[in-house]
This record gives sequence, structure tokens and C-alpha cells, in this order.
Amino acid sequence: MTDTIPTLHVNDHPLVKHKRTILSDVTTDSKTFRELIREITRLVLYEATRDLPVTPFTYRTPLEETIGSTISASVGVVPILRAGLGMVDAAIDAIPSAHVWHLGMYRDETTHQPVSYYNRLPEKNPDDIVFLLDPMLATGGSASDAITVLKDWGAPKITFVGILAAPEGARRVYADHPDVEMYVAALDRELDEHKYIRPGLGDAGDRLFDTLQH
Ligand code: URA
Repeated sequence: MTDTIPTLHVNDHPLVKHKRTILSDVTTDSKTFRELIREITRLVLYEATRDLPVTPFTYRTPLEETIGSTISASVGVVPILRAGLGMVDAAIDAIPSAHVWHLGMYRDETTHQPVSYYNRLPEKNPDDIVFLLDPMLATGGSASDAITVLKDWGAPKITFVGILAAPEGARRVYADHPDVEMYVAALDRELDEHKYIRPGLGDAGDRLFDTLQH
């Protein structure tokens, strides 16, 4: 499957597999779910940031002068509201200098099409690299629309970081944006008729914020 989607990187680390299993377990409570989203984001982002450029510079240890490295790109992090918010802390822990911009999109319950309701991007894009965060790559509609918004804004390089992908969503983003790499913790089987990922984990926003109506 993944060899037909050259831009999709599914993390196969044992820690990711273990944590992702607990994440998707129906008995996992919101507090644990939030912690796991953060932990998995950290691990997936570690791979997604492998190509960040660094510049060498001279500094002193307590013993001598030596050469170090500093990240030389300006980085932006864009969570898609609301579930993407659960991934922000891990991203800014890893890259404290990153800007955080917000995009709000929801899925229309009947058409399943993404609807944009919030955009706090400044007029001019200041970042060299933008990481788009959304835990669920389901139909790929929101991710693809968000990437178009970021490209129109002038983002020179965009990388998608998620937790679970459906093959349909990854294929859609690849078809629309073959220049955007996607990093996820797992590729699940399929989308169901309600466009939920199966086996999946349910509604990521509801599980993060404990807003599931019982
Ligand atoms: N969004 C979710 O939160 N879950 C899915 O399964 C699909 C989209």
C-alpha cells in the first residue's frame, strides 16, 4: 500500500506501535489519550524533522572552543482545529522557536466535505518550513484544503504530521499535493460509510477534549 504513496511515511517503531494501540483502545480515558497523542506526536515529528537545515557555529564548552549546530530554518506549526491542538505542545517542545498558526476546519455531517471556519494566518508567511498537524488523515479533504491555503499563503515547504491515516486520505493528499511529505504513526485499513477510519480510534477531538455524548 505505502509503496503506491511515495510521500507517505508510516512510523514502524515498536514504541509507536505500542502507544498507538493503547491510544485506540476504547477503554483509554481522555487524560491518557491526550498524553499519548503528545508522546506519539513527539516520535513521529522526530522523523518528520530529520531534514531540518542546521548551520554550524563556534561556541565554548567549559573546556574549549568548538563547533556546534543551530537550526537555521524558520519553522511554523499549523494545527487544524480542533483535534490538531492535541499535537501542538509536543511540536513546540521539540522546536521551541516555532510559530504556531491556527486553521479551523470541520467536516460537514451530511456532505463529509471540509468547511473552513477560522484562519489566523498573518498576511505574509514568515516561515521556511510549515508542519501541518492533524491526528486523523481520513478523507484527506481537510488536509488537502489546508495545504492549498498554506501554499496560497506562500509557505515554501509543507510537511503533514498525523497519527492515523486511511489509505483513501493519504492517496488524496498525494494526488493533490505530491510535493508534501506525510508522516503518520499508523496506516489503518479503510474509511467506513461515515468516513471514520477503521479500525481507527473514534473521534479524535471528542476523545482529546472529553466531549463524547453518551
Ligand atoms: N476524524 C476523526 O476524529 N476520526 C475519524 O475516524 C475520522 C476523522
